[in-house]
Amino acid sequence: MKNLDYIVVGQGIAGSLLAYQLMKADKKVMILNDETLPTSSTVAGGIFNPITGKNLDKTWLADKIFPYLRTFYTSLEKEFHANFYHETNLYRPFANEQQQRHFMRLTDEYDLGNYLKIIQPNQSDYEQVSNELGGLYTSSAGWVNVPKMLDCFRDFFKKSETYQAERVDFTELKTAENNVFYKDLAAKRIIFCEGFYSTQNPFFSWIPFNPAKGETLLADVEGYKIKEIINQGFWIIPLGEGKCRFGSTYIWDNLDWQATESGRELIASKVSKFLSLPYQITGQEAGIRPTTKDRRPFMGNHPHHNNVYIFNGLGTKGVSLAPYFAEEMLGFLETNKVLMSEANIERFYSLYSL
Ligand SMILES: Cc1cc2nc3c(=O)[nH]c(=O)nc-3n(C[C@H](O)[C@H](O)[C@H](O)COP(=O)(O)OP(=O)(O)OC[C@H]3O[C@@H](n4cnc5c(N)ncnc54)[C@H](O)[C@@H]3O)c2cc1C
Repeated sequence: MKNLDYIVVGQGIAGSLLAYQLMKADKKVMILNDETLPTSSTVAGGIFNPITGKNLDKTWLADKIFPYLRTFYTSLEKEFHANFYHETNLYRPFANEQQQRHFMRLTDEYDLGNYLKIIQPNQSDYEQVSNELGGLYTSSAGWVNVPKMLDCFRDFFKKSETYQAERVDFTELKTAENNVFYKDLAAKRIIFCEGFYSTQNPFFSWIPFNPAKGETLLADVEGYKIKEIINQGFWIIPLGEGKCRFGSTYIWDNLDWQATESGRELIASKVSKFLSLPYQITGQEAGIRPTTKDRRPFMGNHPHHNNVYIFNGLGTKGVSLAPYFAEEMLGFLETNKVLMSEANIERFYSLYSL
């Protein structure tokens, strides 16, 4: 029997960052991850953006989580000797005069000056997209190459002998007063970081997820030079050397992992409205975001099994939320730090019945 402090289930963004924090705190960890399952993290655009939506909403906790994620990802890059964090910022060309007026009014009304500035029409930097009206430039934004980062994590976990490729079989999992047992592993605690698959987890199927399928396209855009992410509801992420990712769709029914013709047509038609260059689609991917009804993470302790935990519900913002909340979760587990009530699953305990 191998004795551990923690079993972490899942090696998406959530499981990777939490297991990493636990290991940095000298905890004995084993990550169990089914490599055959499609995941949200491997499809994610990886965008982090402090100001989002039609009403220029400031991302929840932006002033805390954005400085935190910058320090976290840049130091991780140094440790892994890899480059996956891209602080490209983001540009939103105005789609029409009505939107231009709306956004200008909002930037006047709200104090968003730390993040936003107006770009004048027809700047040569943006001649490869429609830019007759100018637009809004967002700083502190960018994207993380999530698959690349997760590959680095996997190598790191494998080298530390803290990784097993396997799907957790719930019939083999036993919980006791002070331990959990899984096959030849005995741990003080188990933490589920399964993304969408938590909806099928017998311990956590009562939690109100509101999962959203999404699709993205990979494209070759010859001569594409824009460094920023371009966003007009749908976005273009510059991957380098004329390669781009276009995205993304939101679908709340027919939740499967299949790429669709309708998804491809929708993304291509939206991007074609503002991209002035021809392009060739080279790939298409689909994933299911672990979104939640109240748009807040799911973290904390099972109401009945005191050794069973969850770190999930990162929704559409895994890249922004995971670094800060993995550390919050570490504090909760190891030093009894009180979890933020908006993120703690205690808020749903009334939905649980034995
Ligand atoms: C199209 C699309 C675009 C997106 N764009 C962005 C974006 O631009 N920015 C952003 O921040 N977020 C984005 N997201 C959301 C982001 O992908 C998620 O927030 C994040 O990836 C969730 O990570 P996770 O670790 O919780 O889940 P996942 O990445 O799904 O990982 C779950 C892991 O658990 C494993 N697993 C599950 N069950 C078991 C089991 N029983 N046993 C063993 N292993 C198990 C799976 O194999 C998987 O590795 C996007 C999502 C999609 C679909």
